[in-house]
Amino acid sequence: MEYLPIFLRLSAARVVIVGGGHVAARKADLLLRAGAHVTVVAPRLQEDLRNRAALGELTHLAESFAPAHLEDAVLAIAATDHRDINTAVSEAARARRVPVNVVDDALLSTFIFPAIIDRSPIVVAVGSAGYAPVLARWVREQIEAALPSSLGALARFMGERRRSVQRALGPAARRAFWERVVRGRTGAQVLAGDEPGARRSFDAEVLVSQLTTSATAGRSALGEVYLIGAGPGDPDLLTLRALQLLQQADVVLYDRLVPAAVLERARREARRVFVGKGRGAGESRTPQEEIHELMVRFARQGLKVARLKGGDPFVFGRGGEEIEALARHGIPHLVVPGITAALGAAAGAGIPLTQRGLSQSVTFVTGHPSQDDSLDWRTLARAAQTVVFYMGVGNLEPIVARLRAAGADASRPAALIERATLPGQRVLRGTLAQIAELGSRAGLSPPALLIVGEVAALPAAAEAAAVPAPAAAETAADMIQPI
Ligand code: SAH
Repeated sequence: MEYLPIFLRLSAARVVIVGGGHVAARKADLLLRAGAHVTVVAPRLQEDLRNRAALGELTHLAESFAPAHLEDAVLAIAATDHRDINTAVSEAARARRVPVNVVDDALLSTFIFPAIIDRSPIVVAVGSAGYAPVLARWVREQIEAALPSSLGALARFMGERRRSVQRALGPAARRAFWERVVRGRTGAQVLAGDEPGARRSFDAEVLVSQLTTSATAGRSALGEVYLIGAGPGDPDLLTLRALQLLQQADVVLYDRLVPAAVLERARREARRVFVGKGRGAGESRTPQEEIHELMVRFARQGLKVARLKGGDPFVFGRGGEEIEALARHGIPHLVVPGITAALGAAAGAGIPLTQRGLSQSVTFVTGHPSQDDSLDWRTLARAAQTVVFYMGVGNLEPIVARLRAAGADASRPAALIERATLPGQRVLRGTLAQIAELGSRAGLSPPALLIVGEVAALPAAAEAAAVPAPAAAETAADMIQPI
């Protein structure tokens, strides 16, 4: 390097410009922007300089140059058309060890002005050591075009928050955190001029970093997996944490229980990967092993993977198997609970799952025919409790038959809730003896839950008073099927 690029703090420092023409005016403008105290030595000034002098922005000495003018100067600039004057300035400055720039004369100069791209506080300087100023300007134009005009706003946004991040996060987490701010949503929002949005994303980002650092400390190169419960369907029933993590994810793995309205809440750029059962009859679901492999593979690429699951990941969601697989491969992960379908359905239908004097316990049971052998039907058939069957729609008659055979009363109340919390939610009520018939006559289809117990008969008053699911959500086509 023939020259060392440095950034000089000039605030209130005395800089002397010799010359009063256009070139001098340009240099004066630049130096004033950097906060220098500018003195212009010249018998006459061009208009800009004259105005600035009149306004007191700079000092004008209407004299011929003399070495004494450089007293206390930290920089000197010679910008006259006279070679002898420029030489005199250069010599005087060098004698005093004051860095000097002689315009268009590298030999007489001890420093040169780079071409600059000013996105203060981000400033890029380009120099060619005097070899090719035009080339340097061309390079400057390229960079100028590549850098967003609001880059400075982003730098300030980050600068204002450095201290609070220092307090909130450990040193290992901070760098990865700032990387995410710059490359992620927060940065994009600042650059787009959406500061309120950026502030929200930033706060969410801090929160998430605090949550994840314990699991991921020191392994920021590795991606991570968020196992997120998406709730029963209504996107408003997502948790705040689910939402925050969806905003961060690079990849979203989802299945059929996750409606499009929920998927829409994911980061726009996130890649969405469907890993559920195919829609057509006879199409097979993605094998669980394959889902594990996908999660591991994406995480190993350093990506943030949101594994979205209907309801809660740990309630008939195979979440346990998934975190086991992740742990086996050493992939950092986080589980975010979701509102399980039973809770969504209970709220949607106005059926309290427990109630003083009526039901002292609630049991979530699989109604899937392949998994019901090991159930203790005698316990499930007992009175004064609530049993919620998941995945039982196609299996209603056998479920009822087994409960009856285990001693459940034919008049025991039951309810079917289809598409709980979603537009088009249906609630069918009856007795154990009637419920299978009611379901098939109504053409009930998944997803739906069966609730058995005294509470299922509780007054429809609660249901009538319930606020209907917001219309904003979803259509029937996107839901379905057990996992
Ligand atoms: N992990 C999920 C359950 C997955 S098993 C949870 O916690 O909710 C799939 C079963 O959940 C479906 O067969 C159905 O019985 C039930 N289910 C899921 N969403 C539902 C909804 N919106 N309404 C009614 N039942 C639902």
